[in-house]
Amino acid sequence: MNFNNYDYLFKVLLIGESGVGKSSLMIRFTDEFFMDSHIATIGVDFKIKTVNVDDKLVKLQIWDTAGQDRFRSITRQYYRGTKGVILVYDVTNRDSFERIKDWMEEIDRYGEKNCCSIVIGNKSDLESKREVPKEIGQLFAEQHGLKFIETSAKMNKNVDEMFEQISKQMKETEIKNIA
Ligand code: GDP
Ligand code: MG
Repeated sequence: MNFNNYDYLFKVLLIGESGVGKSSLMIRFTDEFFMDSHIATIGVDFKIKTVNVDDKLVKLQIWDTAGQDRFRSITRQYYRGTKGVILVYDVTNRDSFERIKDWMEEIDRYGEKNCCSIVIGNKSDLESKREVPKEIGQLFAEQHGLKFIETSAKMNKNVDEMFEQISKQMKETEIKNIA
């Protein structure tokens, strides 16, 4: 008998340049809405949502990292206990994509071993403004051995899939480490 209301509890970080849609992705997933303006992170550190992965309940503690780039000293603490990192860029912003490799270096430096990550190209609804072809994002992720998904927080495209994918990876990693 399982007395918890979940089988796994994982801390997940949303990482990426300001404006790529990290807060929008989190809110779309946990609160099921979208706002057409920049969402200021006020007093909220994380949100909780439980997902079902292969008949197991995975409880996600999702941390949004607003302003974190301005307060580098909290970084190490931020990564403590993190099992999964969602690396987000904006498909309409080439620079946000170029910066993904810097964020990966940060994960190498501060992340705990066995930390999973996934690359996300957000704002896939803005096709006419696209600066990063899907194939380029895909290739980059493949070269680093990471899974890749394009999402739209606005159109609710692949948002659940993104969290399910990272949950699956974290669960599999956890099982491997216990065995
Ligand atoms: P953050 O700084 O990474 O947390 O980015 P926000 O979530 O605050 O989003 C920045 C801006 O991009 C806001 O104006 C959002 O409405 C917009 N945005 C976020 N996701 C999407 C998306 O999937 N499509 C479109 N068209 N706009 C988005
Ligand atoms: Mg934000």
